[in-house]
Amino acid sequence: MPIDEAEERLRVGPPADHAAGLPAVRLSVTNAVRRMGIVKATRNLLALNQVDGVDCMSCAWPDPQGKRHTAEFCENGAKAISWEGVRETVEPAFFAAHSLEDLAGRTDHWLEAQGRLTHPMVRRDGGTHYEPISWDEAFALVATHLNALDGPDEAVFYTSGRASNEAAFLYQLFARAYGTNNLPDCSNMCHESTSAGLAATIGIGKGSVSLQDLHEAELIVVSGQNPGTNHPRMLTALETAKRNGARILAINPLPEAGLLRFDNPQKARGLAGRGTGLADELLQIRSNGDLALWQAIGHLLLQAPGAVDRDFVDRYTTGFDEWERHARAVDRAAVLAATGLTWSQIETAAAMLAASKRTVHCWAMGITQHHNAVATIKEFVNVALLQGNIGKPGAGLCPVRGHSNVQGDRTMGIWEKPPAWFLDALGAEFGFAPPRLPGHDAVDAVKAFRDRRAKVFVALGGNFVAAMSDTDVTTAAMRDATLTVQVSTKLNRSHVAAGRTALILPTLGRSEQDMTGGKVQRVTVEDSMSEVHASRGRSAPAGPLLRSEVDIVCGLATAVLGDRHGIPWASFTVDYDRIRDRISRVVPGCADYNARISDGGFTMPHGPRDSRTFPTPEGKAVFTVSPLVVLEVPPGRLVLQTIRSHDQFNTTIYGLDDRYRGIRSGRRVVFINALDLAELGFADGDVVDLVSEFSDGVERRAERFRLVAYDTPKGCVAAYYPETNPLVPLDSQAAVSGTPTSKWVVVRLEASGT
Ligand code: SF4
Repeated sequence: MPIDEAEERLRVGPPADHAAGLPAVRLSVTNAVRRMGIVKATRNLLALNQVDGVDCMSCAWPDPQGKRHTAEFCENGAKAISWEGVRETVEPAFFAAHSLEDLAGRTDHWLEAQGRLTHPMVRRDGGTHYEPISWDEAFALVATHLNALDGPDEAVFYTSGRASNEAAFLYQLFARAYGTNNLPDCSNMCHESTSAGLAATIGIGKGSVSLQDLHEAELIVVSGQNPGTNHPRMLTALETAKRNGARILAINPLPEAGLLRFDNPQKARGLAGRGTGLADELLQIRSNGDLALWQAIGHLLLQAPGAVDRDFVDRYTTGFDEWERHARAVDRAAVLAATGLTWSQIETAAAMLAASKRTVHCWAMGITQHHNAVATIKEFVNVALLQGNIGKPGAGLCPVRGHSNVQGDRTMGIWEKPPAWFLDALGAEFGFAPPRLPGHDAVDAVKAFRDRRAKVFVALGGNFVAAMSDTDVTTAAMRDATLTVQVSTKLNRSHVAAGRTALILPTLGRSEQDMTGGKVQRVTVEDSMSEVHASRGRSAPAGPLLRSEVDIVCGLATAVLGDRHGIPWASFTVDYDRIRDRISRVVPGCADYNARISDGGFTMPHGPRDSRTFPTPEGKAVFTVSPLVVLEVPPGRLVLQTIRSHDQFNTTIYGLDDRYRGIRSGRRVVFINALDLAELGFADGDVVDLVSEFSDGVERRAERFRLVAYDTPKGCVAAYYPETNPLVPLDSQAAVSGTPTSKWVVVRLEASGT
């Protein structure tokens, strides 16, 4: 992966002890004005996350139900809309001047910084450059490739979590009408473990809380999560909860600024540097120690007077006796080894839970990207069930999703393993027989291209190559595809790792006005708390040739399928209400879709949250037993977790700073405990290569990282992705969910040769 020359100017300072504050306001405004100009910046920022405004295209944190602030966004939301609204464009002349080989030598940051894509482009087989192509020819090219395959399962249809409900619904319909369930999505790489763990225990793979529940909680547990960078407005909810008397238990290897204190930039006291302390307790757990911790907490709660909600357990759950036997016999030595915590710290955490009658459990990818991620999430559920913390105000399960509509896309059927009832309803509505065989998830898709079982890759948004694990394997696999199709707003690594024939189809950003069919269209999204609402772009599109994702999907489907199955693709582009009418008849909980989004939106049904009904085979919530396996790390080796910087959203790199962790003008750093530095014979500031070791015997290498002595548990290091994705083996996946184990990569350090 190319290395930015700016890394030569890398500076390391002390990490921050709080998040947001005045710098967040200053950076939000200056970035927006610099990138978009003052008029567009003002219009876009004032519309962001407002009722009938633009839904933030960044994370999936929900909007408040009642009154909203004039500036209802965080620094990273401002970065996201500014990044989309830039004035620079990437025209055909750019591609004429830059060969694919040239582009492959550029950094991810440079590629995206060139501006908005404006023309459909094609790299023809054997060509060295992308060149312009008309929309009609592009659609016809896709049809030629797809209709020449030996079978529909040789095609893969990937979706980014930014796609709207309308685009996602039509896209999965297109893939299934074509004949495949090969519908991997970015959820496969992040919260798939959550979906699997929750579906197996409470019967639905979604969280069970609202924003109001956070405000009313007595205790909020934040596990494996860095809200200050990845879901910044969550800090407002945590602040409100604290001011209402809640306590916060944070469990994370790194003491992230956003877990410590929040200087709310919407409040005078926040701007004056008199913020709200957040975590009452911070447990700096070893990576992968959470399963052990929660088994120990369950063990301690069983002995704590009044901590168990016996009535809830008896009425609403099954499997308690077996779980209790397992929990009572927890191996204390194994817990201490796995967590790196003291027993006294664990007792403190258990006492906080025992004292709370209303607890919300939050988590993110620090939990989901482990071998035992699904088991860990089931253990959260065990403790929540033990205390009756589901289906009552101020309590519940709160997986915090990464991309703005990743949850909605799954609701709309973007899923490689769709349930039979969904396929039945889809088939009945559109008069065809959807395929029943499960398709490829993200990892399986790469393997299918690597092994030449798949040939055509279509991506509705995203940056698949950079997001996936095992970058070198993924890149080679995608370059071997006969056709890759990327529906995109900006240039990225996936356009460079192009198939033999490759298309770039430029699309509208969410902040841009969508006039498809000659009328103003709106789209809808579902946030992390199952709230569905509309989003309507305001800005002029970056170029006259851009099409909406809905229009592109319908264009592709028309070219590929013709009138097969009689699906009226063209009519959907006239009025998106027609898509929502179809959704309302296929997706449970979406009745009267158009009327309800016109009324401000609605909440998707959730049995455990709404009525303590659990749609499991047993009809009850399920206690589960998971063996505790402590993963061994060979001597002289460390466990790497991949993380984001504060100037980053997923694979999008807005800038080279991570001010909360004290990093300026660089990304190739490894945060490492000072004791590990000394033991391994290195010093802060040394430059090393990271070499990962895996059971396949292959050594994977990422070069030239500066060591930064940091407050991280001994034996655990952290570094940014996608730079470290080459170190994560494709076959290193979470059990059941298949999520790449990006929070558990065994590495050794070698002095860098350069
Ligand atoms: S918290 Fe997330 S959704 Fe809200 S403005 Fe910030 S990045 Fe956007």
